[in-house]
Amino acid sequence: MDAASSPADADVVTLTACPACGGGRHRRLATPGRWIGTEVFAPLAGRLGLAGCRDCGLVFVNPRPSSTRLAAFYAGDTYDCHDTSGSSSAGAVADHLMAIIERHLPETAPRHVLDYGAGGGGFLLSVRDRGWQASGLEPGRRGLAACRAAGLDMVERPEELPDARFGLVTFHHVFEHLEAPGAVLDTVRRVLAPGGRLFIEVPNAAALRARLALPWLTRRFAIDERYRAFPIHLAYYSRATLTRVLAAAGWEVEHSFTVGMGLDEYFVEPGREAGAIAPAAAAPAAPAPVRAGRRKLRHRVRDAFLGLGLGENLAVLARPVGGPPTNR
Ligand SMILES: [Zn+2]
Repeated sequence: MDAASSPADADVVTLTACPACGGGRHRRLATPGRWIGTEVFAPLAGRLGLAGCRDCGLVFVNPRPSSTRLAAFYAGDTYDCHDTSGSSSAGAVADHLMAIIERHLPETAPRHVLDYGAGGGGFLLSVRDRGWQASGLEPGRRGLAACRAAGLDMVERPEELPDARFGLVTFHHVFEHLEAPGAVLDTVRRVLAPGGRLFIEVPNAAALRARLALPWLTRRFAIDERYRAFPIHLAYYSRATLTRVLAAAGWEVEHSFTVGMGLDEYFVEPGREAGAIAPAAAAPAAPAPVRAGRRKLRHRVRDAFLGLGLGENLAVLARPVGGPPTNR
């Protein structure tokens, strides 16, 4: 364990080593003004903080809520466990991601996916529709019930997962919540079949949206620092720091990309899903060739934006290399 907490304070944990590189030189950063889960975390005000690693640049919550506090939040009724099953765009997003993943997946990897932290099961149902076998792990009571009601093959705890079974293990907006990512990566290595791959999508700390969410701006205007979700996103990953965390656990990133514009509050009317550029639907109808030209321009802007790594979410596909390091 690299965590140390004062026995007088069981509600918070202070890390002495950077979770990405193990470095001990941190600088204190301003604590975000907007918190989520205040019904659980408000009593910890003044005791939680943000740190930036001077060696690798990772920004992480430190001191952070204890496991007990985090569990209390996830077991509560306000956390929606990123339930995507009700969203009309979720299926399209899953199809977009799976098309990219399938292009990079070896033929030998079994078409059997494990979604780690499956939430309400929306992603798994979409992947099952593509002809895959779909299994999930979900510790949350409500998410687990929703997945089982949808007929998905589910487990509650990592120890229940079979060895060498899955051709793909996915983490959708789950990895940034993990208290011990290295230990979870070792579980993934155990359950992955030969040729299998790991897919992780997290909020992109280097997104244009994240760059625009300056603390003073957040305080003045209702521009939510969504990628932070303070204090439950325990680390804010960029491509460099996520690659580093994976490398430390014996994983090599084969492919990475960013997804979603994440600028909906700036350019798109309220209520629209992230990932779509402002639709022309509300404007008076233009002639078909003009509409087609505008669509083409929008797609070019989006492709350039995502190509620069500025998209709201960061996605990586990785494969295990060598054996797991023994120094954990
Ligand atoms: Zn570091």
